[in-house]
Amino acid sequence: MTKQSGWKRRSKEDIKEIFEFCEGYKVFLDLAKTEREAAKLIKNTLIKKGFNNDYRHENTYMVNKGKTVFAFIRGKSPLTEGLNIIVAHIDAPRLDLKQNPLFEDVDLALLRTHYYGGIKKYQWVAIPLALHGVVIKADGTKIELSIGEEDSDPVFVIDDLLPHLSRKAQDEKKLSEAIEGEKLAVLFGSIPLVGVEKEGVKKGILKLLHDRYGIVEDDFISAELEVVPAFKARDVGIDLSMIGAYGQDDRACAYTLLEAFCDTCDPGRSCLAIFTDKEEIGSEGDTGMQSNALQIFLYNILEGMDLKADEVTVRKILFKSRAISADVNGPINPMYQDVHEKQNACYLGRGICVTKFTGHGGKGGASDAHAEYVGEIRRLFDREDILWQTGELGKIDQGGGGTVAKHLAVYGMDIIDCGTPILTMHSPFEVSSKLDVYETYRAFHVFFKSYLNHMEAP
Ligand code: MN
Ligand code: MN
Repeated sequence: MTKQSGWKRRSKEDIKEIFEFCEGYKVFLDLAKTEREAAKLIKNTLIKKGFNNDYRHENTYMVNKGKTVFAFIRGKSPLTEGLNIIVAHIDAPRLDLKQNPLFEDVDLALLRTHYYGGIKKYQWVAIPLALHGVVIKADGTKIELSIGEEDSDPVFVIDDLLPHLSRKAQDEKKLSEAIEGEKLAVLFGSIPLVGVEKEGVKKGILKLLHDRYGIVEDDFISAELEVVPAFKARDVGIDLSMIGAYGQDDRACAYTLLEAFCDTCDPGRSCLAIFTDKEEIGSEGDTGMQSNALQIFLYNILEGMDLKADEVTVRKILFKSRAISADVNGPINPMYQDVHEKQNACYLGRGICVTKFTGHGGKGGASDAHAEYVGEIRRLFDREDILWQTGELGKIDQGGGGTVAKHLAVYGMDIIDCGTPILTMHSPFEVSSKLDVYETYRAFHVFFKSYLNHMEAP
């Protein structure tokens, strides 16, 4: 376990490798700001690496509704000995457009939003925003949009109140109430359509949307448009040691998982990578970890191998599996050290964080890994010279949180939370350490290659 800065334990050559690895990570962050974009990028990467959606293939994948990806590498041992599973999530806190979003007031056109996941609303005003997503038109045609990422694109913004006038409306309120959810409306345009008396700006916007994309106002009803920060991933710090970007919870784990998985050749145990959706709102819905899509994928795998594809077999495989719930954790914030219990918190730059249990209020809603399994992970990481640390999410009763771990634990598999420490988590510009990102990759890679539970390699 690392109880000092991990940088001290790495050579100049190591640091070069760490920095190089993170260049790919930054590209991923910029190209995959939404769960749909991440799923597409992951799928395309898998295809490039020789994965196939024909389940008879040894390396295969399934995309569920464009938002979740399951990928599988056949190992040497029989499936009934269980799988090495790592799951990360590809959704991130954001603002979703409402289904009837567009309105005009005081000569401005705005879009109403409904926030998704745990955000601090004050962080989303007065920053450049981009609009990503899909619109399904009345005839079923799908329009994919991404506005605000190119230098030549416009961006959007949520207007904040000037300090001169905000005393009663904001400053004297509690921070959590100063910016109301309904006030998170995105500034979208301001030129009225010529010769129109009423709602000229709104009509001008609608005409523009129709001319450019063939969209009419009712098409917003069948759209999923997500408002995300418009800025790109950047190096942070004069020594370039950190990365600032939107969506690092949980792309720090999703990208490292994808890379580690694709670099796993001919493993002993079969390997399963899951890139899931809806973690930020409780893993609900048919693309969240609580859905049965995982079983469907495993039925497909079994059929592809000409094995009996029934529920009993799948349940036995999952029962024997070993898993990592790959999700980020909050390291000690230098200016708010009080919210952590420093003896058990994780630190930026000390490597991947192993979290035995999550939950809140006396481990409520927790997944709590068994000591035996923590021991296996510990031995594995130590043997492979992984820089790792332990971390719990904040002091007792300061808040807390959960991950997808408990939704896989129901199958009876061993599972533990491991992931990258992220400062300013859930903000539009989260910060990671390049060293931690790289150690996350290394940890996932050795996990996929490993035989845990004292099993002998065939
Ligand atoms: Mn997360
Ligand atoms: Mn989160």
